[in-house]
Amino acid sequence: MSILVTGGAGFIGSNFVLDWLAHHNEPVVTLDKLTYAGNLDNLASLQDDPRHDFVQGDIADQDAMLRLLQAHQPRALINFAAETHVDRSIADPGSFVQANIVGTFHLLEAARHYWTALDGSAKTDFRFLHVSTDEVYGSLAAGDPPFTEQTCYAPNSPYSASKAASDHLVRAYHQTYGLPVLTSNCSNNYGPLQFPEKLIPLVIHNAFAGKPLPIYGDGLQRRDWLYVGDHCDAIRRMLEAGVPGATYNVGGWNERTNLEVVHGLCTLLDELSPRADGHSYATQIVHVTDRPGHDRRYAVDATLLQRELGWIPAETFDSGIRKTVRWYLDHPQWVARITSGAYRQPPAGCAQAE
Ligand code: NAD
Repeated sequence: MSILVTGGAGFIGSNFVLDWLAHHNEPVVTLDKLTYAGNLDNLASLQDDPRHDFVQGDIADQDAMLRLLQAHQPRALINFAAETHVDRSIADPGSFVQANIVGTFHLLEAARHYWTALDGSAKTDFRFLHVSTDEVYGSLAAGDPPFTEQTCYAPNSPYSASKAASDHLVRAYHQTYGLPVLTSNCSNNYGPLQFPEKLIPLVIHNAFAGKPLPIYGDGLQRRDWLYVGDHCDAIRRMLEAGVPGATYNVGGWNERTNLEVVHGLCTLLDELSPRADGHSYATQIVHVTDRPGHDRRYAVDATLLQRELGWIPAETFDSGIRKTVRWYLDHPQWVARITSGAYRQPPAGCAQAE
């Protein structure tokens, strides 16, 4: 048996593949289009691992996805593939519609045809797990209760709207065709291997580069933060015991304002790698014009996942952020290959979806 991971060269997908192979001997096939966010350096430690195959391809290529499924006969497909940066979705919403809505549709069609042809336990046991975001629920006011699985969708950015549409398609494939799907709606992840355009790796990178640490507006937007390893654990549990058709919220019970996150990072960086001039990295903080349509607050109620699947995050925000900063300090080459563009050269012989 094997599993197929789409979008597995990105931040969470690559953490998931590494985490999976650390816990299981079951092989993984990773499919990724290798957009600017896909980075094969993330999977370099698996280069000689016979349990791992990488294929470059697009989830919107339905025929290629069906051939890939038929060739590898996975017992589960975990879909991380997406365009994910809200700012980019404001500048170029069309690419988000294409990747997140059209792409998910074609992937679902390929999975439906593959699954329909299965029989016996292979058919019963198959899972299509779609990884989504808490941003589909829109923005909370101060004092509102956190999002539950019953909260109505009210996305506010082209990114969250495209993810919401993909979630609806996934749900419809269960209701209409019986495809055994699972959907996870998770809060902001942080950890190793995150592309340095997202808040936490951006702040770490800019701090060391002596650049401004930009904060949108007043910086009082609140987010829930989850260490990526805890998200991977939640997904593994959903695959093991999640109820087909179910949606699970995933969150860390770690609400922080963006300003608190950036100040906390600066304090940690001051401790672990102080500036040569003795000043705090916090002196590099600048407030910039707020993002249009910027959601004020997200908070996630992950009680269902805890109660039904026994999931509890292993990291607090303080322990997770310390691990994360340590990782970036210990891997300067990883960021350097991104900033130089060197990471975009796939190794010779990289397989293509046919
Ligand atoms: P990422 O941008 O780091 O990675 C996305 C990956 O998908 C990249 O490797 C990219 O090359 C690949 N990809 C994009 N379009 C593709 C296509 N058409 N076909 C195949 N591959 C394609 O994103 P991430 O932060 O790892 O997020 C992964 C998933 O988790 C996304 O669906 C995102 O919506 C969701 N999510 C992210 C967070 C977060 O905080 N990062 C939180 C909750 C949910």
